[in-house]
Amino acid sequence: MKTFHIGGVHPAENKLSAGSPIREAALPKQAVFSMFQHIGAPAKPVVQKGDVVKVGTLLAEAGGFVSAPVYSSVSGKVNKIDAVIDASGTRRMAVIVDVEGDDWEESIDRSKDLVRLSDRPDLDSKTIVEKIKNAGIVGLGGATFPCHVKLTPPPGSKAECVIINAVECEPYLTADHRLMLEHADEILVGVDLIMKAVNVTKGYIGIENNKPDAIKLMTEKASQYPNIEVVPLKVKYPQGGEKQLIDAVIGRQVPAPPAIPISVGAVVQNVGTAYAIYEAVMKNKPLIDRIITVTGKSVKNPSNLLARLGTPFQQLIDECGGLPEDTGKIIGGGPMMGKALLSLDVPMTKGSSGLLIMNEKEARRSEPQPCIRCAKCVSACPMGLEPFLLSKASAMEEWEMAEKNDVVSCIECGSCQFTCPSKRPLLDMIRVGKTTVMGIIRSRTAPKS
Ligand code: SF4
Ligand code: SF4
Repeated sequence: MKTFHIGGVHPAENKLSAGSPIREAALPKQAVFSMFQHIGAPAKPVVQKGDVVKVGTLLAEAGGFVSAPVYSSVSGKVNKIDAVIDASGTRRMAVIVDVEGDDWEESIDRSKDLVRLSDRPDLDSKTIVEKIKNAGIVGLGGATFPCHVKLTPPPGSKAECVIINAVECEPYLTADHRLMLEHADEILVGVDLIMKAVNVTKGYIGIENNKPDAIKLMTEKASQYPNIEVVPLKVKYPQGGEKQLIDAVIGRQVPAPPAIPISVGAVVQNVGTAYAIYEAVMKNKPLIDRIITVTGKSVKNPSNLLARLGTPFQQLIDECGGLPEDTGKIIGGGPMMGKALLSLDVPMTKGSSGLLIMNEKEARRSEPQPCIRCAKCVSACPMGLEPFLLSKASAMEEWEMAEKNDVVSCIECGSCQFTCPSKRPLLDMIRVGKTTVMGIIRSRTAPKS
């Protein structure tokens, strides 16, 4: 069975919510829409205090080409536009809406009828990309990169295939798995749309073989699409990394930055993004909700919730049985790449794939011990880096050494830290080095004034 070739680890899967069908979360009383829900320039508010909005009303326009608009996921009145603390712990501009009723923009088609690409001969590649851009779709796997940018290959590069990331290799998370089981038809139309958007005739859907029901269903459904192939993959973390997925599915290696997937002809999109693209293009529905896994060993009812963007995390946890008494740490995302949350009074955003509540025992970190030079971190690194060296360079603020040893290629997967027998905080240190070196590179290449 196919997989990527360099490094990788096998953390415990803990997919506690895999058997929980998607259920709709309740509407919040107040929804908070951050202007920073994507990579790139922040969105710019176009509403004012007191404005009445519906579900699907534009709240903020894109702040540039690499940016995305923000739409209201609720109906009600704009309470204020103000800086609020978000999941990163940073105070950032947001539009805050007091919720009244659930009134949707009439332009959104809320019927369940499946619309296929063959039903819409009017849709050409440019129109599809434009609709995706206007709907505020970003990568829903967690990267939040504006989707239309990836679907607009830079001059000189040509897409050859679309690869759908349905791997969901992060332990605990099951949102993509449930989405495939419950919305396979819509996902396949979404893949068809992405293929048409970038003018390719080959699409792959990579799924790890710990989801045999999803592989079976998607394969059955894909039989109606001769150009789309479901590729079962061996379970290995971090197979959901773009470079690892491309290697696993088509056996091509993306060179070091500045090379990107399109450099080897691949356009990679998450399976949740393919579904959002279907809704945006075929149903005129902007990105206003998503599926989030709320889980943890002490959580009463681990769930996959279809929740409106802007809903406070606290409310989502309450819907799954409340915060367990033995809570030690709450993570936004999965245990490998997610970030610890300082507060639950923060809103769900486009990138919120999971909420993981770790109990005190799991959250306890062992005291780091000296490096024993076992090289396990080197064998685990899927980017072929030397994590012990990079973390040492960061600790000593040896930025030149960190740059020379390619710290910017680190995909922050955490495999090195996971595998280290001395429990060294490798990723924490490497992240500092990567951020610093990227800043140095940017300032070096910035035009001099
Ligand atoms: S976090 Fe970075 S250095 Fe560590 S294994 Fe992943 S890619 Fe390699
Ligand atoms: S895995 Fe840990 S102990 Fe082994 S070489 Fe890497 S940093 Fe050192």
